[in-house]
Amino acid sequence: MPAHLLQEKVSGSYTPTTTVTTPHSRLLQSGEGKLEKTPLPAEEDIRPEMKDDIYDPSYQDEEGPRPKLEFVWRNIILMALLHVGALYGITLVPTCKFRTWLWGIFYYFVSALGITAGAHRLWSHRSYKARLPLRFFLIIANTMAFQNDVFEWARDHRAHHKFSETNADPHNSRRGFFFSHVGWLLVRKHPAVKQKGALLDLSDLKAEKLVMFQRRYYKPAVLLMCFILPTLVPWYFWGETFQHSLYVATFLRYAVVLNATWLVNSAAHMYGYRPYDKNINSRENVLVSLGAVGEGFHNYHHSFPYDYSASEYRWHINFTTFFIDCMAVLGLAYDRKKISKAAILARIKRTGDGSYKSG
Ligand SMILES: [Zn+2]
Ligand SMILES: [Zn+2]
Repeated sequence: MPAHLLQEKVSGSYTPTTTVTTPHSRLLQSGEGKLEKTPLPAEEDIRPEMKDDIYDPSYQDEEGPRPKLEFVWRNIILMALLHVGALYGITLVPTCKFRTWLWGIFYYFVSALGITAGAHRLWSHRSYKARLPLRFFLIIANTMAFQNDVFEWARDHRAHHKFSETNADPHNSRRGFFFSHVGWLLVRKHPAVKQKGALLDLSDLKAEKLVMFQRRYYKPAVLLMCFILPTLVPWYFWGETFQHSLYVATFLRYAVVLNATWLVNSAAHMYGYRPYDKNINSRENVLVSLGAVGEGFHNYHHSFPYDYSASEYRWHINFTTFFIDCMAVLGLAYDRKKISKAAILARIKRTGDGSYKSG
């Protein structure tokens, strides 16, 4: 069957969602318990259960000097060692066994899905729903990726969307490429991140036993899934040298997944067009999409964070959407939220930078 027909067939099974394209308002509880009406942008209500990943333009940085940077030396040393190990791993790639090479790639894809389909599209944005076997797979894949537990990842990520490009954004891209790429993990959080992050609604995550279970046993689980298992498998099962296993399948693969994810925060907030919203910093970046298995359509994603594809399109340079659609065929993923074409075109007309090419 041609790929596009297969795609139609697989993605044709959406649960219908309503896209509201006219401006509407929502009721907010004010301090005194009174209800007041707040206008919201159009095309929003396809995921009514969650609001704390929607950009809040009313939050602005306070004037005044920036607090002094406090380095977290433990992280700096560990990150430096990991990257030196990964560079050495590159020199070992040509002498690796073919199966070790495949194992590293397999581990790369599975752990990337643990971030993109798991921590990001499922747990941070609730852009689709997943049944227990899929959530179980995703939490294991997420542990293989070792990028903080899902609870912490989703909290940081909701703050990133809600307070984009301010001091309350954990990887504020206004502080430069290096800071938004990795620097934010090497210094203490800005006080605004803690202050605003603490106010986010994370009740859905706290109520999910699997997420809390991962958080509780995170350290030993990461040690096993990100370091011990990927090193031991090639060494034990096909007689790879311990050195090749450790430096290629573990250090190099882990560093590649980390950097691919970080590029979404750095490069995709700096380089590319803004066809959907020229007023925000995030951009469409095909190269980032390639490395981060579909997460580089970042101007779209910040414009419509509740779209399960994180892109206007479905399988176009988007392995994560392909994966979620396959899970939907198996009945493990459902209620995938997708923005209607009409709402997208209306947004392009209203706020786009004019670079949009239809067709
Ligand atoms: Zn972003
Ligand atoms: Zn996001």
